[in-house]
Amino acid sequence: MSEPKKLYIKTYGCQMNVYDSERMAEALGGKGYVETKTPDDADMILLNTCHIREKAAEKVYSELGRMKAFKVEKPDLKIGVAGCVAQAEGEEIMRRAPMVDLVVGPQSYHRLPAMDDAVQTGAKALDTDFPEDDKFATLKGRSKGKRAPTAFLTVQEGCDKFCAFCVVPYTRGSEVSRPADRIIREAQELVEAGVREITLLGQNVNAYHGHDGGLAGLIWELDKVDGLERIRFTTSHPNDMDDALIDAHGTCEKLMPYLHLPVQSGSNRILKAMNRKHTAEGYVRLIERIRAARPDLLLSGDFIVGFPGETEEDFEDTMQLVRDVHYGQAYSFKYSTRPGTPAAEKPQLPEDVMNDRLQRLQGLLREQQQATQASMIGREVKVLFEKAGREAGQMIGKSEYLHAVYAEAPADVLGTVRRVKIVDDSANSLKGQLIA
Ligand code: SAM
Ligand code: SF4
Repeated sequence: MSEPKKLYIKTYGCQMNVYDSERMAEALGGKGYVETKTPDDADMILLNTCHIREKAAEKVYSELGRMKAFKVEKPDLKIGVAGCVAQAEGEEIMRRAPMVDLVVGPQSYHRLPAMDDAVQTGAKALDTDFPEDDKFATLKGRSKGKRAPTAFLTVQEGCDKFCAFCVVPYTRGSEVSRPADRIIREAQELVEAGVREITLLGQNVNAYHGHDGGLAGLIWELDKVDGLERIRFTTSHPNDMDDALIDAHGTCEKLMPYLHLPVQSGSNRILKAMNRKHTAEGYVRLIERIRAARPDLLLSGDFIVGFPGETEEDFEDTMQLVRDVHYGQAYSFKYSTRPGTPAAEKPQLPEDVMNDRLQRLQGLLREQQQATQASMIGREVKVLFEKAGREAGQMIGKSEYLHAVYAEAPADVLGTVRRVKIVDDSANSLKGQLIA
């Protein structure tokens, strides 16, 4: 029997790309490829790229420069670029990096097997369409092999909101929801392969409309899947947080008490310029309602500092919102100009102003994160154990609040949810003791 061909995928960016990479590997698995962890022995290298912030494309070109050496060593090696940089740059990639054989956008990777046929004949393959055929319907069921206890499942893609800073509506296209029955089937396949926790993904996951009851309706369907113990979802938009979803946070036991709800800024003037279509006060009221439904919910968010026109007063409004809301965890970014987006036309703030604001915001968010972690000490949590820890006899998993927790535990806790008492905290994790 001939050796299987080896596929190396390097994934950049968000969780949706992690999911897409898995599906690409499965699609090419049907053509005899098996995944390898290093590019050295690969027959195909795929870079699954992200375009959300500046210099993303430049990073891809310099990575391609490094990959060239592998092609010199092994002329039959095929090199492909997938994801949002592929979508945005298209043919330009093959012009600037002629050793690239294949360019595929996020909406057309179900066509990878046919593209592989083409590149094996020495041809180049480019597909950055937003095709009519449904990518997910074309892709076969999930592979049957044993899986890790947690998995991502994309339920919604694209965005119609057009925030003034963001490339997503251009690279991922308009909002599309997958039908609920297909998602349930995929969840069942994942559970059969050992998955216990599923994170539903979408650029605007709570705008999901593939079920009459919206995202909450889908969550209640998933609640009925035997063997599935935990459900999460990300990323949400404040304007799509409907009553049913808020209610599910209080009533659905499988839905974990963690919510990533980006606000971006605490200044109404900036929110308007960002085209966010919500106010800071509206966001704070929304959080109050969600916390009334689920008081122990851990809140996470995204912030952009230095959006064009942001004054010190606007920035102070963001700091005040953070003090008022209190985040258990959060991501913050310097505004990054994205060509083709409305904000790119506006005068930019000086780099040192942006750096200074980012540092102050991150300092405050870090304090809140550490206070939240410290408040867990002495509490009992439920941990889904995911893998062995660095030290012998240690296992690592996640609490319902998405804190990484490590504890001394036998290997057979893997894939099970156990009661754990938190005894200490460190920068990014909590130490726990298994409760018998
Ligand atoms: N749909 C989600 C929402 O509206 O909150 C977020 C999706 S986006 C992929 C993830 C995060 O990247 C955003 O919440 C935003 O904070 C950040 N982001 C997007 N464009 C950016 C830009 N041009 N500069 C800096 N950060 C950006
Ligand atoms: Fe980008 Fe999110 Fe705004 Fe859509 S809602 S444009 S994905 S930041």
